[in-house]
Amino acid sequence: MELKPAQAIEWVPAGTEHFTGEVRLGPLSHATPEGLNALAVHFAPGARTDWHTHGDGQVLYCVSGVGWVQKDDGETVTITPGDVVHSPPGERHWHGATPQSHMVHLSLTTGPPTEWFAEKVDDDEYHRHS
Ligand code: MN
Repeated sequence: MELKPAQAIEWVPAGTEHFTGEVRLGPLSHATPEGLNALAVHFAPGARTDWHTHGDGQVLYCVSGVGWVQKDDGETVTITPGDVVHSPPGERHWHGATPQSHMVHLSLTTGPPTEWFAEKVDDDEYHRHS
């Protein structure tokens, strides 16, 4: 076995191409075409992904803070530590932190890379459920 201590996780800024606000990615596994892609993702308050889909779906596991996951039709769930969200293949969605809290989730995917849409999640969409 191989221990990777917490301080050895190489957190990298997610950048602004597919995200709004301050987001950091902590890779937990190596992505391979067939293998598991496990990522820890840290969202600062108000930070979120752009609209996207996952070819094989996605499992999110909330580790810390409070977040939102929203579908195309506006349906939104609030997640807190221990909550799990499954997005089926091809379902357009975004996820991120609430305005008042950071949020950390694990993202578990297999299969093709995330398909990003050109649209950012604007403030109206971000707040439309509240
Ligand atoms: Mn997703």
